[in-house]
Amino acid sequence: MSLRVYNTLTRSLEEFRPLTEGRVGMYVCGPTVYDHAHIGHAKSYISFDVIVRYLRYLGYRVRYVQNITDVGHLLETGEDRILVGAARERVEPMELVEKYMRSYFEDMDALNVVRPNISPRASGHIPEQIELVIRLLERGYAYEVNGSVYFEVSKFKDYGKLSGRRVEDQEPGARVEVNPEKRHPADFALWKRAEPGHIMRWRSPWGWGYPGWHTECSAMAMKYLGETLDIHGGGMENIFPHHECEKAQSEAATGKPFVRYWLHNNMVLVNGTKMSKSLGNYTTIKQALERYRPEQIRLFILMSHYRSELDFSEEAIVAAGQGLNRLHGAYRKLLQRSRHAAEKPMSDSLRAMGEEAKRRFLQAMDDDFGTPQAVAVLFDLSREVHSYLDGVDAPSMEAISYLLGLYEELAGQILGILPFSRSESRELAPFIDLIVEVRAELRRNRQFELADRIRRRLGELGVSLRDTPEGTEWEMA
Ligand SMILES: [Zn+2]
Repeated sequence: MSLRVYNTLTRSLEEFRPLTEGRVGMYVCGPTVYDHAHIGHAKSYISFDVIVRYLRYLGYRVRYVQNITDVGHLLETGEDRILVGAARERVEPMELVEKYMRSYFEDMDALNVVRPNISPRASGHIPEQIELVIRLLERGYAYEVNGSVYFEVSKFKDYGKLSGRRVEDQEPGARVEVNPEKRHPADFALWKRAEPGHIMRWRSPWGWGYPGWHTECSAMAMKYLGETLDIHGGGMENIFPHHECEKAQSEAATGKPFVRYWLHNNMVLVNGTKMSKSLGNYTTIKQALERYRPEQIRLFILMSHYRSELDFSEEAIVAAGQGLNRLHGAYRKLLQRSRHAAEKPMSDSLRAMGEEAKRRFLQAMDDDFGTPQAVAVLFDLSREVHSYLDGVDAPSMEAISYLLGLYEELAGQILGILPFSRSESRELAPFIDLIVEVRAELRRNRQFELADRIRRRLGELGVSLRDTPEGTEWEMA
């Protein structure tokens, strides 16, 4: 069994084989930090998070680079998103960038998204971008007009291969205003002249200006991952023009393939239309986190495939929450029953059930990161676990630790959907056990006032106690 991924470039499932054995260089287009991130961003970065987690689980050493766009990403009006945001909030552009970059990482941390190894910022890599533009001019793929530099797409024969678009289709049309500086309407800016009053600008061989949006990703990806990346990820809406342009300029500059596997994730829909900042139909991650558990948001996203559209609705998230309860319920039950488990071996049938679940889970993940099927396996497993625990007085200690390990590996390490709030961590359980034991001792010594205080204080911390003839059970909120 081996990992197969869907490569946008070849439009087929391919066996995954990195350039260097055992190592993966992966680049994903990061956010433009001019506002809080929304659920559309959550889908994108949770999907790639699971991809990175799975590659690491398979034993690859992954260097994961995800940029922060803080200059050059223009709106359709031609205005820089960062400058528009800075004007809106009456702050320095870099103040705005700092604020929303922190907000983005805060959201990603809350969603249990593992941070990239490198988060390079476009504004911090201007020399590398200028260098790339110089190289393209030297190799005859670009031309300069009035302080702006354009990439000449007709010089690069593979242009359009990634998106399936042909240059001939892009004749001047009614929709696109023709820029008289361009030799062909499909040519794109590598470097732009800064008009008077443009705040974010740098000195270049062509005068004051700033980089075009595509330039940053090529320059930073190749700086940190070399001239050929194993994986380049991003949203489908970025296939054209962003990734087509990245590919063209990188390959024109180096003469080598830029990316081995192009992975693209689909968008989040609200009532049939794309959730986006510009349409205003978005729910921010912070708003969602006020209403839903972070594991629930993750599960909701992973219950559809990364290449499928995801309909955002209250019912769907609530349904994901119910699924999560079943899964967490089985996991918690295992934790609780582990305290009264018997020193006996686990049965062969139980082990076979577990191994089969793991095999099906990994098979789903190997098939282009099939998280919906993988999640279904975990639901089946949880049903089996409930029925096993309900059917025995004292479960086998070996079985419990085997099953806990299975959850931690598949649901925890790979999908990141086990309870990850601090209060629910498995490490806390022995300490709560100890407090509960001390309280029982106090009750035996008729020190009820102190025992009640412990119960009250634990309750405030989200741990509720239930005294039964067999002893005290506890549960976390
Ligand atoms: Zn990019």
